[in-house]
Amino acid sequence: MAPEVGSDLAISVYNTLTRRKEPFVPVHPGRVGMYVCGPTVYKPSHVGHMVGPVIFDTVKRFLAWVGFEVKFVVNITDIDDKLIIEATKQNCTVPEIAERVTTDYLACLKALGVHSIDLFPKATDHIPEIRAMIESLIGKGHAYPSCGDVYFDVSSDADYGKLCNRDPEQMEAGIRVEVSERKKNPGDFALWKGAKPGEPSWPSPWGAGRPGWHIECSAMSFKWLGAPIDIHGGGLDLQFPHHENELAQSECHLGHPFTKYWMHNGLMKTGDKKMSKSEGNEVVVSALLKRFQSEAIRYLLLSSHYRSPIEFSEARLLEIGRTLEGFQRFFELFKRVTKASFHELKTMGHRDPDRFNPSSLEDGFSRDMVSLAAGLVECLADDFNTGGAIGSLHEMLTRLNRFVAESRVEETADSGNITQLIEGATLFRECALLLGLFEESVQKDPGEKTELVDALMTLLIELRAQSRQAKNFAMADHIRKGLTSLDIVLEDRPGGTIWRQS
Ligand SMILES: [Zn+2]
Repeated sequence: MAPEVGSDLAISVYNTLTRRKEPFVPVHPGRVGMYVCGPTVYKPSHVGHMVGPVIFDTVKRFLAWVGFEVKFVVNITDIDDKLIIEATKQNCTVPEIAERVTTDYLACLKALGVHSIDLFPKATDHIPEIRAMIESLIGKGHAYPSCGDVYFDVSSDADYGKLCNRDPEQMEAGIRVEVSERKKNPGDFALWKGAKPGEPSWPSPWGAGRPGWHIECSAMSFKWLGAPIDIHGGGLDLQFPHHENELAQSECHLGHPFTKYWMHNGLMKTGDKKMSKSEGNEVVVSALLKRFQSEAIRYLLLSSHYRSPIEFSEARLLEIGRTLEGFQRFFELFKRVTKASFHELKTMGHRDPDRFNPSSLEDGFSRDMVSLAAGLVECLADDFNTGGAIGSLHEMLTRLNRFVAESRVEETADSGNITQLIEGATLFRECALLLGLFEESVQKDPGEKTELVDALMTLLIELRAQSRQAKNFAMADHIRKGLTSLDIVLEDRPGGTIWRQS
């Protein structure tokens, strides 16, 4: 038998199905299959759509770092009533809208550092698998065709309601249930929808039509991850009816459990309202990225516990921007002292338990850093507490800055202290990468102009220094004030004057 990965690190995960935290033990030792419900691609992504991908990207980063081989699948719903309505409005085809909106979605993921998704299966590429599953459910007496549609019969499943812990009547009371004479029970849901004239459709034994929303996730997760899968994730709003229905149809089809751990992330709110297209309060990601650093958005999404709601406001993003400047100042200081780039430090990329054990070290900076890093890992191992992990990252930054100040490494350039600083910063970087933060250096003025700006700034700093030497303080002040008005701050340091954008 393969050795159990990360067996000395207890990872716990809150399982919506059992309503408690459980030890994380995947179905197959060493391997994790994770499926997260993706977008219905009819309108550009708003920032609320990014919560799940950023959270589960972080879950994958952590599990992979611990040593699991993780396969992460996010579906694209590219056929749905909403797409058909939007295509009619925009006078274009459903595939055209789907392609355009999918491109926007992928660009938003990339900007927010969500790199770990292995596969984005599309519903329309899985029609044969969906049809076969519907046939199986009909054959087993869990579904019935009706007037060109096919419905799942909720009364055929004694377990229906177990994910939400509610009986069918309570669930019907909680949502608008479409009453239709086509259905046996009001809570029955469509597995296949007969096409109206002019709608996109695929042939089936029940007539031309398209799949219902819930069935596509079951069919795609079986195809790409098998069953049971380890983690099924999604926003809290998907718990009912989407996940309840996925679970019911999947287990009736399989005859065994569908998912071991159900994880639901909190939703993004503005004020006391959920951010959504229907509320009309959505903030489109592509527009937000023109005004705020992508890193600030990722930081916001990770700063609270993933099961809590996330409060969105521009004031909060501005505040995070200022917080990130504190980190940026350390990266600049690190470069001045070590002549190396923080963003190019080579990290181990996987967990080495000995390296995260402070008890073997003497009191002092290195032990403090290892201890804080171990605390960060503990946060993530405790139901992926990213908010706690970010807290540890701040403490690591404070400790690094204290070391620089106390050791006077910038003034003395002592090689032993420089080595310690590099080791501490490398550990910090390894921890930050678990959260997908500070992967790359952020430049406020990216592109070709950077070198020229650097050269011009060097020239201005020289002119200011020469003015002061010549006791022309008016000119020196004029240069400083002019730069201040351009949001450029000069700092006079032991090794010379440096500049940064404020
Ligand atoms: Zn789904």
